[in-house]
Amino acid sequence: MPDRLSEFGEIGHVRRLPVCAQQRGAAHRSLRGSMGLSRQHAIVIGASIAGLCAARALSEFFERVTVIDRDELPAEPVARRGVPQSRQLHFLLARGREAFDELFPGMSDELIGAGAVAADMQAAVNWNFAGHRLRKAESGLIGIGLSRSLLEFTVRSRVTQLPPVTLVERCDVMDLLVDPDLRRVTGVRARRHADGSVGSALDADLVVDASGRGTRGATWLEALGYQRAPEERLRIQLAYQTRSYSREPEDLAADFGSVYAPYPEQTRSAAINAVAVDRFMVVLSTCGGEDLPAREEAMVEFAESVGGHDIAEVIRTAPPLTEPVLMRFPESIRRRYEQLDRFPEGYLVVGDALCSFNPLYGQGMTVAALEALLLMSLLREQADDLAHRFFSAASGLLDTPWNLTTSGDMQFAHVEGEPSAEMLEMEEYFQRYREAAANDAVLTGALLRVFNLLDEPSRLSEPDLRARVLQATGRATAPSS
Ligand SMILES: Cc1cc2nc3c(=O)[nH]c(=O)nc-3n(C[C@H](O)[C@H](O)[C@H](O)COP(=O)(O)OP(=O)(O)OC[C@H]3O[C@@H](n4cnc5c(N)ncnc54)[C@H](O)[C@@H]3O)c2cc1C
Repeated sequence: MPDRLSEFGEIGHVRRLPVCAQQRGAAHRSLRGSMGLSRQHAIVIGASIAGLCAARALSEFFERVTVIDRDELPAEPVARRGVPQSRQLHFLLARGREAFDELFPGMSDELIGAGAVAADMQAAVNWNFAGHRLRKAESGLIGIGLSRSLLEFTVRSRVTQLPPVTLVERCDVMDLLVDPDLRRVTGVRARRHADGSVGSALDADLVVDASGRGTRGATWLEALGYQRAPEERLRIQLAYQTRSYSREPEDLAADFGSVYAPYPEQTRSAAINAVAVDRFMVVLSTCGGEDLPAREEAMVEFAESVGGHDIAEVIRTAPPLTEPVLMRFPESIRRRYEQLDRFPEGYLVVGDALCSFNPLYGQGMTVAALEALLLMSLLREQADDLAHRFFSAASGLLDTPWNLTTSGDMQFAHVEGEPSAEMLEMEEYFQRYREAAANDAVLTGALLRVFNLLDEPSRLSEPDLRARVLQATGRATAPSS
C-alpha cells in the first residue's frame, strides 16, 4: 500500500506532466529563505473552478502542486457528477472575465473561440426588476455566456500545462494530517477509487480545501480539536430549473439575454441567456418553496406570469436540446474562519467551501477567481501567517457579494432574519433607483457595475446618482450613508 505521494503518484489515474527542473528551481529558490512556509508541495482538494484557480495561483510559488478530485475528469467539456450545478445556466460577470484573463492570459478569447458568447451586459440584456426594464446602452461591461462545463474544461486544460501541477482524479480526500502539537496541517489522507485502500498519507506544506458547498473541512478540523467556524446561513429555498434550446439568429432579435428578477411580491423569476452561438439556456426559478413546472405548456405560462413574453416565445417555438434539469439550493452559506481564535497553519478554504451565494446573482466563479488573485498577492508579500492573512482579506472580498445577495434575499417574507433599519432604508432607495434607471442609462450602468462586482454598492448612493434618482422619482431621498 503506498503511503507517500511519490509512490501514490506513479499509479492510478494520474496525469504527470514533464517538469523543467532547472527553470522551476531558479524561480522557487528566490521565493524561499526568510519565509516561514516551506514551498515544496501544495495539495488542492477539488479540481473544479475554485480548486483550479487556486492551483494556478500556487503554481507560481510551490515546486509541486497536486490537485485531487473524486471524479473522473472528462476529456471534453461535459457535466460531471461532483459538480451537479454544471447542468444549470452559468454566466461570467464582467469582473470575472477580467479576473480569469488575469489568471490565464487570453482566456476570454479562448472561450469565445470555443463557442462562448461575449456581450455588453447593458446593451444586449433586457434587465427587468419589479416591472421596470432598465435602460439599454453601450457600457463596455462585457460578460460571457457559456456552459459551466466549457469554462471548467478550458481552465483545466490551462492548469494541466503548468509544470508544477499534477491532477489526480478518482481519488477521495478523507481527512487532514496534522503535526503532533496540532498547530499545522501537514497533508491529507486520500483514497484512490481504483484500489479501494483505507487511504494513503500525502504530505504537503499547504492544503487548500476547494471541495465545494459540501466540504467536510469543518468536521475534519473539529475531529482534531478545533472549534467549528461560525456559519451564516440564509434559508432562501431556491428551486432552479434549466433547459437548453436551439438559438436562431432571429431569436430575441439577437439579444444576449433577458432577466426577470424576483422581488418580494413575486417569488418567481425567469432568465434566458445565450451560452453559445447556437444555444440558449432558459432558467425558471422560485424561492420560498413553490414547485417548478416540467411540462412545456406550464413552462410557457410560468414565463408569461413574470412578464417574460420573450422567454415564453422561445420555450414555445425553439427546439429544445435537453430535458429540464431541476436543482434545489436551500440556503446560502458563509463560513467565518476569520473569526476563529485558533486555526492551524498550512490550511486554507476557498470557493463555495468558504462561501456559497444565491446563484441568481452569478457571482461564485468570479469570487473563486478573485480569491486566487488574492492568494497570489499574499504569497508574493510573505509566507508567514498565511491562514490568518488569507481569511481576513478574503472576508473583506466576500463582504460585498455576500451583502448584495443576502440584503436582497432578506426582503422576502419566507426568508428568516430581520433586515436592519439601514438595509430597509437602502432597499427603499433601491426600489426608487430601479424605477429611475428604467429611463436613465447612467443609473442603469452604475447599477450593473455593482452587480458585476466592479464597484461597491455605496457608489449607488453617491450624490450625483442620488440627485438623478430624486429628479426622476420626484421625492427626496435619505442622505447617503
Ligand atoms: C444552480 C447554480 C447556478 C450557478 N450559476 C452561476 C453563474 O451563473 N455564475 C457564477 O459565477 N457562479 C454560478 N454558480 C456558482 C458556481 O457554480 C460555483 O461558485 C463555482 O462552480 C465554484 O465552485 P467550487 O469550485 O468552489 O466547488 P464545486 O464546483 O462544487 O467543486 C467541488 C469539487 O470538489 C470535489 N470534491 C468534493 N469533495 C472531495 C473530496 N473529499 N475529495 C476529492 N474531491 C472532492 C468535487 O468532485 C468537485 O469537483 C451557480 C451555482 C449553482 C448551484
